[in-house]
Amino acid sequence: MIPAQFDYVAPTSVEDALAALAEHGDDAKIIAGGQSLLPVLRMRLNAPEMIIDLGRIESLRGIRDDGDAIVIGAMTPHAVVGSDPLVAEHATLISKAVEHLADAQIRHRGTFGGALAHADPAGDLGAPALALGAQFVIQGSGGTRTVAADDFFVDLFETAIGDDEILTEVRVPKHTGWGAHYEKFVRVAHQWPIVAVAATVRTEGGAIAEARVGLTNMGSTPVRARATEAALAGQPATEDGVRAAAEQAAEGTNPPSDLNGEADYRRHLARVLTRRAVVAAAGG
Ligand SMILES: Cc1cc2nc3c(=O)[nH]c(=O)nc-3n(C[C@H](O)[C@H](O)[C@H](O)COP(=O)(O)OP(=O)(O)OC[C@H]3O[C@@H](n4cnc5c(N)ncnc54)[C@H](O)[C@@H]3O)c2cc1C
Repeated sequence: MIPAQFDYVAPTSVEDALAALAEHGDDAKIIAGGQSLLPVLRMRLNAPEMIIDLGRIESLRGIRDDGDAIVIGAMTPHAVVGSDPLVAEHATLISKAVEHLADAQIRHRGTFGGALAHADPAGDLGAPALALGAQFVIQGSGGTRTVAADDFFVDLFETAIGDDEILTEVRVPKHTGWGAHYEKFVRVAHQWPIVAVAATVRTEGGAIAEARVGLTNMGSTPVRARATEAALAGQPATEDGVRAAAEQAAEGTNPPSDLNGEADYRRHLARVLTRRAVVAAAGG
């Protein structure tokens, strides 16, 4: 289908984009890579009168080292994030997740910030961002604020970004030396996961010292498998050492039931995929 008619601006600064947002209010919508928004417009699920394209704002692109964190600009395409050496070294879990995100064409158009702002519970970046304790930098006309990952994902397709705000960058605390693995379960290649598990693990002398585990599509937002994380501490970094902790992975989750699987099936997947993800991350 063809989208409803809209006006279009492509500002070159965040300030100009915010001014356009303020001027057009509820009639405006931001476009980043367009990989989620364009299908929505084409199906006429949304019909904004003004589209504000962030594609010409250079300050929103790129990845930099900032001491104890790496900073990923919101408009950085998935393909750039996935091949970046800083991300690979200090936030390996994100590199691993991007490998599984959609196909090459979408990875070149879609953006890191766009995917996180879209907040699809089946999106592949939310669980790694949550597991790594990312901080979301959000700019509005009143200034800039930083929101922790625990508070960023509010509900299905809903984040802490206000209607008059823009996500500018994501700060990811360095997890240098941590093993990482993203285990994604799909029916066919290049699809959103039925369930996926993002695990990152620090080992010491063959045992798990610390573990962080994020779950994709196990509720209306990405969630941490906190019971599993706590139970993993001190366990041997082997399949037998991980097994009992992984059995707690679905605790406190509220997975959907749909054509791809019932909630109970997803809980089963969460346990199995958590075991596989943690064992792989721990190198066991
Ligand atoms: C066929 C197909 C398969 C896909 N498969 C997967 C998959 O397997 N896994 C996966 O994770 N994703 C998948 N995606 C989605 C893909 O990751 C998109 O890139 C992503 O969801 C949206 O990023 P975008 O840059 O295209 O954002 P857009 O589509 O341009 O925007 C998405 C939403 O976020 C808002 N937004 C964008 N940027 C900002 C910002 N900086 N500040 C505030 N709001 C903003 C927009 O207003 C819009 O509401 C798939 C998409 C397609 C079309």
